[in-house]
Amino acid sequence: NKFEEYQLSNEIIEALTMLGYTTPTQIQERVIPYALENKDIVAKSKTGSGKTAAFAIPLCEMVVWDEKLAQALVLEPTRELTNQVKEEIFNIGRKKRLKVCAIFGGFPIDKQVITLKQKANILVGTPGRVLDHLRRGTLKTDKIKYLIIDEADLMMDMGFIDDVKQIISYLNNRQVTMLFSATMGENIKNLADHYLTNPIEIMI
Ligand code: AMP
Repeated sequence: NKFEEYQLSNEIIEALTMLGYTTPTQIQERVIPYALENKDIVAKSKTGSGKTAAFAIPLCEMVVWDEKLAQALVLEPTRELTNQVKEEIFNIGRKKRLKVCAIFGGFPIDKQVITLKQKANILVGTPGRVLDHLRRGTLKTDKIKYLIIDEADLMMDMGFIDDVKQIISYLNNRQVTMLFSATMGENIKNLADHYLTNPIEIMI
């Protein structure tokens, strides 16, 4: 298993083996070592490149199981992507018994409040509903150290960028930010310049 060349615990390697992931994809090869060093990353990469695992592997490695409050927030433009990414993170973190919680709209928010009161190591959600929870005070940000902005160009196209910016203003303990986008236009570069610190640029 070529993933063994990274600083990954056995629990993560075992989960990857179960998934049939033995060789890192190009984006994973570029992202994982830097992510494990807590570097900010801006990466141009398409769906199908293995980009979800590129951020999910280091996140699952770095978050601490024995902590009740969420330590990572992953933002996705759609409910479907939220569920897919949640599933991928769950699979990679399963040997570590990580709890992953999806947050999206379309049903009463009260039900989700109950879910959020339970332990979750990693949150995945759409900007609108995440922001709703932040405003209501039902999502605690004290321990959120990692922020992933996935599909940033789609977020722009769908008009979610203001919500994303608002969300960032709540993340007072954010230490690491990774931004992924299929395209890298001026608007995405500006966003990265503004919110990321000396990011490693990965263009695939
Ligand atoms: P993504 O680009 O994240 O949507 O991933 C595309 C597909 O590649 C998904 O079905 C993953 O399960 C799969 N995948 C991701 N990383 C690997 C890997 N290292 N080896 C084999 N398959 C992978």
